[in-house]
Amino acid sequence: MKICRTVEEMRAVVNEWRACGLKIGLVPTMGYLHAGHISLVKIARKNADRVVLSLFVNPTQFGPTEDLDKYPRDFERDRQACEENGVDAIFAPTPAVMYDEDFSTWVKEESLSQVMCGVTRPIHFRGVCTVCLKLFNITRADVAVFGRKDAQQALIIERMVRDLNVPIKIITAPLVREEDGLALSSRNRYLSEDEHRRALSLSQGLFAAEKAFANGERNAAALIALVENSVSANGGKIDYVVVNARNTLRPLETIDRPALLAAAVYFGTTRLIDNVFLG
Ligand code: AMP
Repeated sequence: MKICRTVEEMRAVVNEWRACGLKIGLVPTMGYLHAGHISLVKIARKNADRVVLSLFVNPTQFGPTEDLDKYPRDFERDRQACEENGVDAIFAPTPAVMYDEDFSTWVKEESLSQVMCGVTRPIHFRGVCTVCLKLFNITRADVAVFGRKDAQQALIIERMVRDLNVPIKIITAPLVREEDGLALSSRNRYLSEDEHRRALSLSQGLFAAEKAFANGERNAAALIALVENSVSANGGKIDYVVVNARNTLRPLETIDRPALLAAAVYFGTTRLIDNVFLG
C-alpha cells in the first residue's frame, strides 16, 4: 500500500495506474476509520481496479466554533485498517498541501446546501464541495463512494458533478449502524457512556417513524414529532428534524413521493446526524 503526502506523490501513483488502463476508485474520509468507512472501501473495490482512500480533516468545512481541533485523528490505526481492507493508496495531505496561503477559488452549490445542515453550518458544504473537487482532480478517480449517513452531502456532490461535468461516477453507499442502532460516526467517540445510551433515542425515533410510515402514516409533522419527542425525552437538543423530498430536499407536508426523514441533534456538545428513507 502506498502512502502519499503530496499532490505530486499521489499524481505519480495514479498516472502509472491510468497508463495501465486501471480504473480508480476514491473513498474520501476525515479518518478515524470505522466500519462505515470500510463498507465504502468494499464498494469501491467492487467498482474499480485500484482504491485510494483520502485521510484529510478538511479545515474549510468547519465553522469557527466547531470541533476542528478536537476531531479524532489516529494515522497509525487508519493505516492498519486500510492495509487490512485492501486499500491500494492512502492520500494524507496536510492543510498546507491542500490550501496555498493565497487560496481563493471555491465551489458553492446554491440550492441543496440551503437547508438542513446548511442552515446551522453555513460554510460547511462550500468546504466539502471544494475539497471533493480537489480530491477528484488530484486522484483522477473514475468513481467515488460516499455514505448515505451524510445523505445531504452525497446529494450535493452528485449535483456538483452533474452541474460542472466532472468526469466521475458517484456511488452512494448504505448507512452502517452499530448493533444498538446508533449510526456509526467518528464523532461517536466524543459521547460518554450515558450520552451514547441516550443518543439511541435518535435512531429509535427514526425507526418508529419508519414503522408508522409503513403502517400508512403520510403526515410529515406526525413523523417529525415521533423523532423530536424521542430525542427530547432523552435530553437531546434538536438542531433539525425534517421530511424532505429525496431528490430536491424541498420540505414535504404530505409524503407523496420518495422522502428523506433526516435529523441533527446534540447530546452534550456532540452533534449527531442520522436519517431514514421513506418510500
Ligand atoms: P467522514 O470521515 O465522517 O467525513 O465520512 C467519510 C465518508 O464515510 C462519507 O461519505 C460518509 O458519508 C461515510 N460514512 C460515515 N459514516 C458512515 C456510516 N455510518 N455508514 C455509511 N457511510 C458512512
